[in-house]
Amino acid sequence: MSVISGIAASKGIAKGAAYIYHQNEIDITEASKLSQESELERFKDACDKAAEEISRLRIDAIEAVGSSEAQIFEAQEMMIRSPDFEDSVQEWISRGKTAEYSVRAGSEALEKMLYETGDDYLMERTADVRDISGRVIRALLGVRNEDLPDFPHILIAEDLLPSQTIAMDKTKILGIATSRGAYNSHTAILARTLGIPAVVGCGDMIKVIRDGSEIIINGTDGTVQSEIDETAEREFERLKREFDEHKNSLEKLKDMPSVTADGSEIEICANIGSLEDAQAALENGADGVGLFRTEFLYMESTDFPSEEAQFEVYKTVLEMFKGKRVIVRTFDIGADKSLPYMDLGNEENPAMGCRAIRVCLNNSVLFKTQLNALLRASKYGRLAIMFPMISELKELRACKDMIRECMRELDDRGLEYSRDIEIGIMVEVPAAAVMSDEFAREADFFSVGTNDLSQFTMAADRTNEKVNYLCDASQEAVLRLIGLTAKNAVANGILCGVCGELAGDPEYTEKLLRMGVRELSMSPFSILEVRKKVREIRLDQ
Ligand code: PEP
Ligand code: MG
Repeated sequence: MSVISGIAASKGIAKGAAYIYHQNEIDITEASKLSQESELERFKDACDKAAEEISRLRIDAIEAVGSSEAQIFEAQEMMIRSPDFEDSVQEWISRGKTAEYSVRAGSEALEKMLYETGDDYLMERTADVRDISGRVIRALLGVRNEDLPDFPHILIAEDLLPSQTIAMDKTKILGIATSRGAYNSHTAILARTLGIPAVVGCGDMIKVIRDGSEIIINGTDGTVQSEIDETAEREFERLKREFDEHKNSLEKLKDMPSVTADGSEIEICANIGSLEDAQAALENGADGVGLFRTEFLYMESTDFPSEEAQFEVYKTVLEMFKGKRVIVRTFDIGADKSLPYMDLGNEENPAMGCRAIRVCLNNSVLFKTQLNALLRASKYGRLAIMFPMISELKELRACKDMIRECMRELDDRGLEYSRDIEIGIMVEVPAAAVMSDEFAREADFFSVGTNDLSQFTMAADRTNEKVNYLCDASQEAVLRLIGLTAKNAVANGILCGVCGELAGDPEYTEKLLRMGVRELSMSPFSILEVRKKVREIRLDQ
């Protein structure tokens, strides 16, 4: 048996076949040494293979999610056989280029053409063109398709971007192990949100794992075991049983109130990024949503989601939570959460560059699209709006001005909205914590983002496993800033919540409550554990 140690990123234990995920860019040669006829033949063969693959995916999708969701594959099958696709590729082949180069260049031209129509339906098809061209290129070069297998597996990767994690079919992923990444990186956060066991930052040792071999991943102690022997097998069974029993024992807390043993009411809310997460939050008895990471809606989309599309999502979430507060954070794009369709330029330090509220305030059209969607949805529940990465008072004031402007515009459009929306800020930049006395006079609530607050207080990159020990919210310096923020919130009569990962750690629940924190927002799968802890605490002692 061999054991690899990494960072315990998402609790739970799983056993299954390792699937090594390759994410290297494919090298493409431009000039062809073959005749045009040969390149054309290669192209047609590759199209056949890709079409077969899509047809298999369509059949799997019908079984898994039903025929309406499978329509996307039907459209792709048609597209791969369409004269438009073939003509655009042939044109490049006739200029002496390789088939793979021609597929890439031809599809880019086709995507541009679709995009320029301005028609919503056709613009959305650009993603399908990109998808089929990727399949054809992989078929041409014999590169394995990076669609994940449709059998249960443990995903092994060097690192995963949040956008890659979002795009995966998580129902087949038993666990995730990566050689890079840290506890607070978004992939780790996503794994926790989905309740998938994960170990990150395992280093190069992970490369010894063979594709298809049976491995055990333990996201609670941060280990990955390969070459499993009988003893390891027995230990796995024991730990799995223990984990499941513990999980079942928490079930009874689902409908119990989040109140301390001496009667203080606490809100235990969920961090969500999608409607599926919202459902998981309700199933785990969330008292509301403490952080809706709306940038994930943007990351799942092939273009900026329209006001209408966003309105529908926000309305649905508000309705699902039936009057419980839903704190929606305006999009935090930038750093590791980039959008393929948005050019933010090259920055030396994107985590400290033009991201989050800085992007919003520089792009009033984008910002207003989201605010309008939110305001319109506010009629359907209890909405609170929160701004990310606030560093100076001027920003909060500019955001509030923008909301007022949107309200006026909605009045002009004759659209309704609630006039009773709480406006808060994330305290995740040390400057905001230090100035929290002043912010508390102008914000309706605080929510401490301990992930970024740790990163910036400790000057330790949250995605870098080498400084994971420093980028840790339990560092005294970070705790003191949380304490200061909560003290200033209490003094000014506003709510102080925590929505960074520290909120989901029961070891720190009492400390946070004693500081004055009254709302804790976390992965849906941590809620019951924290509720159990809250109900045991006495704040009067
Ligand atoms: C945080 O920084 O603590 C936070 C909750 O936001 P995110 O993890 O999305 O940056
Ligand atoms: Mg943050």
